[in-house]
Amino acid sequence: MLSLEQAQAAIRDRITRAQRTQIIALSDAVGCTLACAPVAAVDNPAFDNSAMDGYAYNAVDLARLQGRLPVQGESSCGAAPGVLTPGTTMRIFTGAPLPQGADAIAIQEVVQLQGGVAVFPTAVKIEDFVRRRGEDFRSGEALYPVGHRITPMDIALLAAAGVNQVEVFTKPAALVVATGDELVSPGTPLQAGQIYESNRAATIAQLRQLGAEVVDGGIVKDNPEILRSVLAGAVDYDFVITSGGASVGDHDVVKQVFAQLGSIEFWRVKIKPGKPLAFGRVGDKTHFFALPGNPVSSLITFKLFVEPALKAWHHGVWTWMELAATVENDFRRSPGRMEFLRGRLRTENGRLYAQALPGQGSHMLGTLRLTNGLIKIGEESLGFKAGDTVTVVPLTLDVS
Ligand code: AMP
Ligand code: MG
Repeated sequence: MLSLEQAQAAIRDRITRAQRTQIIALSDAVGCTLACAPVAAVDNPAFDNSAMDGYAYNAVDLARLQGRLPVQGESSCGAAPGVLTPGTTMRIFTGAPLPQGADAIAIQEVVQLQGGVAVFPTAVKIEDFVRRRGEDFRSGEALYPVGHRITPMDIALLAAAGVNQVEVFTKPAALVVATGDELVSPGTPLQAGQIYESNRAATIAQLRQLGAEVVDGGIVKDNPEILRSVLAGAVDYDFVITSGGASVGDHDVVKQVFAQLGSIEFWRVKIKPGKPLAFGRVGDKTHFFALPGNPVSSLITFKLFVEPALKAWHHGVWTWMELAATVENDFRRSPGRMEFLRGRLRTENGRLYAQALPGQGSHMLGTLRLTNGLIKIGEESLGFKAGDTVTVVPLTLDVS
């Protein structure tokens, strides 16, 4: 059995990274991954300008004229920089160009106007309130590395840098299939022994959030013939993700079918939940994951394995944020596997606290209502006591 890190490294090493790219408008780029480093077309700021509404002046003149300078002219936003007449001050507004000859700005609140003369306070400093050309980034600078996934914040930076289109990887195509004789889609009444299918629905949502083009392969019976025919088209996809049937039971046919279609790289990982899990390849394009059927195992193994795989496919480096938190209750367990508990994270006076939620069975979805993070327990740990420091992984920053 592989450890989590071994399994993640094995996946990373076996990913065939994306090749196809396309150029798209910046306005369509959120969630896409850069295939080419975008370069700033301008310095930012593009010119020396004012950080405040006030008066632009020359510090030597100000000292020479003992803080009294006649106001002459105005620098407003969108106008080319003017020229400061020696011995005067110029009215200036936030974002307006610093006039030639000026080297500082005094904010309007500290300047008194007496007739047409601005009276400055005694202690005004050179460079106050001047935003200098290029102090943020420079024209020609590569702004992001290849493999970076574009966020709304990045859109602001790229737009400010004059970038109006970006080269991104064409989205991966993914096929999602649920397996199980007992599964029925919600909306249909249940017969005896049936349950509502939930993994495929969640996997599709998770994949879409990560920027994949997803095809819903539906629910397939635990029948190798049917599964083989559904997966016959697997080679057309970059990712094929199944749920259920990945274990060693008589009806667990997924592994068997994948072994016929391609090659299985491993199928057991020393983690809880999620031990029966397979990763493999079909041809040189398709990566498949056979995720476990238990709903919580499916969600967590997606996060632990499919997310890093998608990141690597996009030429990126996957990480997640592990934080130290004070745990608020006891949890005992037998050692042997790394374990992820569903937890409730909260902060108080700037400190992070975690509660191991009741109802940790991997079939128990109710706990997800309160889950906003995972508590990570090392292989050899016997658990923890209230007040201990534990490692947590936030899943969302929205704690409501
Ligand atoms: P399996 O991995 O197929 O042995 O399934 C393990 C458990 O997860 C069983 O209780 C299944 O009924 C349940 N299960 C499997 N697939 C799904 C699914 N797509 N949605 C909800 N529960 C599932
Ligand atoms: Mg099953």
